Amino acid sequence: MLLGKLRETVLEANLDLVRRGLVLSTFGNASGVARSEALIVIKPSGVPYDEMRPEHLVVTDLQGKIVEGTLRPSSDLPTHAALYRAFPYIGGIAHTHSEYATAWAQARKPIPCYGTTHADYFHGPIPVTGTMSDEEINGDYEANTAVPIIRAFEKIDPMAVPAVLVANHGPFAWGADPRQAAENAWMLEAAARIAFFTACINPQPDEIGKALHDRHFLRKHGQKAYYGQARTKE
Ligand SMILES: [Zn+2]
Repeated sequence: MLLGKLRETVLEANLDLVRRGLVLSTFGNASGVARSEALIVIKPSGVPYDEMRPEHLVVTDLQGKIVEGTLRPSSDLPTHAALYRAFPYIGGIAHTHSEYATAWAQARKPIPCYGTTHADYFHGPIPVTGTMSDEEINGDYEANTAVPIIRAFEKIDPMAVPAVLVANHGPFAWGADPRQAAENAWMLEAAARIAFFTACINPQPDEIGKALHDRHFLRKHGQKAYYGQARTKE
């Protein structure tokens, strides 16, 4: 069986999404990529979470062609594959319809950064994509879903802002690996919920100042990160 370790990590990331209450019905999937092999591991479609085993996951190439697995992959595979091709440093992707982030996606409003919870994970507002054209929707829909996402990151580093709101749909988050992608999906939902409450209390809140935003993001990420324990490589 190919990529045994990555299969386990991707399975755990999918279960993390469920444990954290981010999966409404079956709207949730996580994947990971092995860059050296140029292979994706993704959740199968229609297998109950409590029965899902590493061998059920599906291995595909970066074009989404199945390399190993008998089950059908998640129907969002073409979106994941397109994002792996476009964003070379990401190692995992998580898609959910978590409710607060989805509400912002449906309102077609980016999530402003009002505080340090958001700033710890995202170095800027969470962008919202443009809408898809009828041709894109009626064509290769799942692959085309990645088109406005990639466009939204023309001037944003996807590793500095590892999430997006797809207009009228919901959030995608990513990270260096599948575990981080699931964690970012979780923190995105928290940032979306807290920002919603903030705007309820004060309809015109000020965004966080640059110094505080930079301090919080950069102490956890980037060259001079010092927060938490030193990372050990696997
Ligand atoms: Zn979806």
